[in-house]
Amino acid sequence: MSPHAKNPPPDRQLGEDRPIPRRDFLQGALVGAASAWSGALLRAYGADALPERRAAQDLPGYYPPAITGMRGSHPGSFEAAHALRDGHAVGPETDTREIYDLVVVGAGISGLAAAHFFRARNGAAARVLILDNHDDFGGHAKRNEFELGGAVQLSNGGTLEIDSPRPYSAVASGLLRELGIDVVSLRRKIEHPQFYRTLGLQQGAFFDRETFGADQLVVGLGTAPMRHVLAQAPLSARARADIARIEEGAVDYLPGVPSADKKLQLSKISYRDFLRGLAKVDPQAIAYYQPLTHDWWAVGIDAISALDCWAFGLPGFRGMHLEGGSIARMGYTPSGYKDTGGSATLHFPDGNATIARLLVRSLIPEAVPGSSAEDVVTARVDYGRLDRADSAMRLRLSSSVIGAAHIGDPARAREVQVRYVREGQVYGVRARGCVLACWNMMIPYLVPELPEAQKAALHSLVKAPLVYSIVALRNWRAFSKLGVEQIYAPGSYHPLVKLNAKVDVGSYRSSSAPDEPILLRMVRVPCKPGLSEHEQNKAGRAELLATPFATFEHNIRDQLSRMLRGGGFDPATDIEAITVNRWPHGYAPEYNPLWDPEVPPQQRANVLGRAPFGRMTIANSDSGAAAYTDSAIDQADRAVNELLRPQG
Ligand SMILES: Cc1cc2nc3c(=O)[nH]c(=O)nc-3n(C[C@H](O)[C@H](O)[C@H](O)COP(=O)(O)OP(=O)(O)OC[C@H]3O[C@@H](n4cnc5c(N)ncnc54)[C@H](O)[C@@H]3O)c2cc1C
Repeated sequence: MSPHAKNPPPDRQLGEDRPIPRRDFLQGALVGAASAWSGALLRAYGADALPERRAAQDLPGYYPPAITGMRGSHPGSFEAAHALRDGHAVGPETDTREIYDLVVVGAGISGLAAAHFFRARNGAAARVLILDNHDDFGGHAKRNEFELGGAVQLSNGGTLEIDSPRPYSAVASGLLRELGIDVVSLRRKIEHPQFYRTLGLQQGAFFDRETFGADQLVVGLGTAPMRHVLAQAPLSARARADIARIEEGAVDYLPGVPSADKKLQLSKISYRDFLRGLAKVDPQAIAYYQPLTHDWWAVGIDAISALDCWAFGLPGFRGMHLEGGSIARMGYTPSGYKDTGGSATLHFPDGNATIARLLVRSLIPEAVPGSSAEDVVTARVDYGRLDRADSAMRLRLSSSVIGAAHIGDPARAREVQVRYVREGQVYGVRARGCVLACWNMMIPYLVPELPEAQKAALHSLVKAPLVYSIVALRNWRAFSKLGVEQIYAPGSYHPLVKLNAKVDVGSYRSSSAPDEPILLRMVRVPCKPGLSEHEQNKAGRAELLATPFATFEHNIRDQLSRMLRGGGFDPATDIEAITVNRWPHGYAPEYNPLWDPEVPPQQRANVLGRAPFGRMTIANSDSGAAAYTDSAIDQADRAVNELLRPQG
């Protein structure tokens, strides 16, 4: 990864001195008040003058999807959790005197699904409170909304596709159907997979001078022969030939070895070692492939097994004659997945935020107008209706849970006490049960009474960090002129850059011509090759939390100006707004044969960690060890079933 200045001075040519028309001043102030420790901003909006102090989410105009700037784990969402981790004392508790049948910790897809399943099994009168530390619901299912040229443009701030490398379970596909998502018919109706292709736009690669010696964009990846595409690339002749061989050749790098033995060998080496050691490619080609696995695993090719890369269809294995099917030392089942409830390609304009919004509609219909999976895309959520005292189902935002304890002996207790921090104040509620659908590694801090072995297992389930930056552009003429719709930039700050896909659904219209505004999606994974996967994640997480928005902005402007220079792109005038969705806790930890101990599946940390504990059960995709929607849903179902099981 190329070096980039940490705190660069504002660059006039890049437009850093120009205020981008963000609406985060108004909206951000309002929402920031919910999560910040000070009440000053609330006062600015007159909240203190209200007869009863209301939370920010109840104030008129509260609309977090429209906030730009630093999102994802936004300022104000994680400080209480870090204070708990660091052992800081909290202030006295205010007893809300609220008693629920269920408290759900975490309003991601798993927590929302848990509330849905619980109510389905207990009736509409069941009293449920869902608590989340963010200013919006959905967890990684985050909606980014921009008003551009008088129209709304949408993007996902986190999870995008309803995909999974495994077939969807009956539970997960059943829930999607219940929510009105029929992936097969929706795919036909809303996707335009050939849109850019019909306009002559293709995939490109950008070689940056810090990594490859010169800035150069090449176009035609996947359509033209690799030797033509790379002809202008600042690579040695050998590196070009090696990349062409990996992409298009059919070489058996383990001749004479039976398929089963090959697979075992490939499961023990990284994809980088496969390329370097077996395929013997040039170091420049290694640099070219280094971030190829970022978007799938949030780590580079040095930390993912060659076999898993084969299963995901990465290049280089065509001549290896590997027989289909998975082996124990694999994270994935190759080609076991079709449209089985989820879909390998279908996504809504705001990604799986639509699933979260449909779940909230099913839980609190008055908060989300409309009745279909298509009209929900343009529905404006009324956040003021999410947490009403007269509703059996309540969703409370900007509320970081800092403790959950049984009232009495966990084996016999009939209630749990849940404490959370909101606007700097500690509150307590009671419930007959609690589903912890939050990040599993945090649960030992919340529930110190858990058995030590279970706490150790939970502690190890740390998510991998990554960033989805969304850049609002005035137009996409530069892309059109260069004939490119997505760019793989292996040495750049954001190695993956892509024009927002064309998806038209309900009354929502995505950008349809180069003169129109559009959203650009950029992916960054802060990994540190040379360390173990776990240590890379740890270092990347620290980097993300220490990187200010200004650094992201500078690097985005710099990268776009260099990549798109030939198309006349001017970052000072072409960029309308930037949102950085920072996820220090991103993808759920998955089994990685390179780093994880070889134990039977039932002894893996996620299984040991998710054991029910008295009136508490554990959900989240972490407990399924799979960073996918179906896992979040399946684990919610299991956690609710465990809670409702008669206690022995
Ligand atoms: C950038 C990104 C892209 C992804 N892309 C895809 C994709 O395309 N397809 C796919 O299927 N999956 C994708 N995933 C995986 C995604 O994580 C899962 O599919 C799923 O959305 C996870 O849901 P969850 O409810 O298990 O976890 P989360 O979405 O993380 O929700 C858990 C919630 O609990 C909250 N929480 C944590 N601690 C506390 C606390 N103490 N108090 C209160 N609340 C707390 C969290 O802040 C969060 O809001 C992606 C993930 C990321 C980060």
